[in-house]
Amino acid sequence: MSFASLGLLTELRRAVSEKGYSEPTPIQKQAIPVILEGRDLMGGAQTGTGKTAGFTLPLLQRLIETQGPVKGRRPLRALVLTPTRELAAQVAESVQIYGRYLPLRSAVVFGGVSINPQKIKLIKGVDVLVATPGRLLDHVSQRSVDLSNIDILVLDEADRMLDMGFIHDIKKILALIPNKKQTLLFSATFSDDIMKLANSLLRSPALIQVAKQNAATETVTQVVHPVDKSRKRELLSYLIGSNNWRQVLVFTRTKHGANRLSEQLNTDGILSAAIHGNKSQGARTRALAEFKSGKIRVLVATDIAARGLDITQLPHVVNYELPNVAEDYVHRIGRTGRAGNEGEAMSLVCVDELKLLKDIEKLVKCEIPKDVVAGYEPDPAIKAEPINKGRGQQQKPSGKKPARPGRNARIKSANSKTDGNTASNNTPSPWRKHSGKNRRAGTGNRTRNAA
Ligand code: AMP
Repeated sequence: MSFASLGLLTELRRAVSEKGYSEPTPIQKQAIPVILEGRDLMGGAQTGTGKTAGFTLPLLQRLIETQGPVKGRRPLRALVLTPTRELAAQVAESVQIYGRYLPLRSAVVFGGVSINPQKIKLIKGVDVLVATPGRLLDHVSQRSVDLSNIDILVLDEADRMLDMGFIHDIKKILALIPNKKQTLLFSATFSDDIMKLANSLLRSPALIQVAKQNAATETVTQVVHPVDKSRKRELLSYLIGSNNWRQVLVFTRTKHGANRLSEQLNTDGILSAAIHGNKSQGARTRALAEFKSGKIRVLVATDIAARGLDITQLPHVVNYELPNVAEDYVHRIGRTGRAGNEGEAMSLVCVDELKLLKDIEKLVKCEIPKDVVAGYEPDPAIKAEPINKGRGQQQKPSGKKPARPGRNARIKSANSKTDGNTASNNTPSPWRKHSGKNRRAGTGNRTRNAA
């Protein structure tokens, strides 16, 4: 996907291409069309995802599209609030760079520096203002800024603004801004306070959640468990039971797959619920509440249903099936290892999914360690089959079903460390060919115990 296909003006595309970006990042792909439509947005994204261009580019375009004839002093129409001076300066620089070929003016105000040069600039009139809350209120009280014409409001790093105690300043600022406006709220976390602020501010917002690319993997231990398709459910139950995981988010590719897996886990005595697009909002909310409270251990979700889920710091995420789109893998594993906590993301991968795995490894720029769980070795006789990506996917076992692992194998698995028990020395040929060296230094990944 290109910037042109997102519907951006030539002037903006020119600035972007001069900056050296060839392709939009995931948040840009998702946020730009939504913002251009004039919708409110709740973005779960941190620095490093490309979120600044994600909101700045469409914001500038909206200002151009709605600009009346400029007579006298320009009204201030867009306000970006940031928690820190550094971020304000960075965002203002982006506004300058991306807007360099557009007839718009911008300014930045933050504390710790003389207020007078800022006043002079503001009094001349600007279209876009980037500000920290305290200094903005200083300007309001000195009448150097008028917020009554704001059409677009951005709250960047809203969680940090609340952590830094800016809620009262924000409320004062909001009271000066018209109710009818487009609001974009970005936050790395969705705490109760953020949800409260979002509920009071946003109108039917689009929810977009992205993990920091590559860096999402820094605090997440990733591992691939090669396994036959027909034995994935058994392996999942085994991993949950033997590790005594209390809270696991499991991803499937399809709604049907999510329902089936959830039913099977319940049959195995592992309480679970499925959430996906065919479930009512009520059912989803209930499942989420039961998951959070610990009433159910496993939440089985499709990618779409998991977007914008207000669950933080999940210890375990399991890709029961790899996603068709590699970027969704980064979103999925971004559900664990949040806010500096370590998390585990494991993928149960069958021979059909080797191509998907390769695409993911290319995207995250590292090879994910392979760890065969003893007793669940893939059958080398099973050949890859095309992945059914459509609706109502049936997971027919491919090839013959290998025997369940015997007691000894299970005990060995439970006691074994991953060292030496990796794809290169005990896995069948398709895996060995694919895996090559299975650990690289400096990726932030590490293997985990087999059980
Ligand atoms: P941000 O998350 O907005 O702080 O952006 C993180 C970094 O990504 C910044 O250095 C941006 O210049 C860079 N960036 C933003 N968009 C793109 C893109 N489409 N392609 C490559 N780099 C980008």
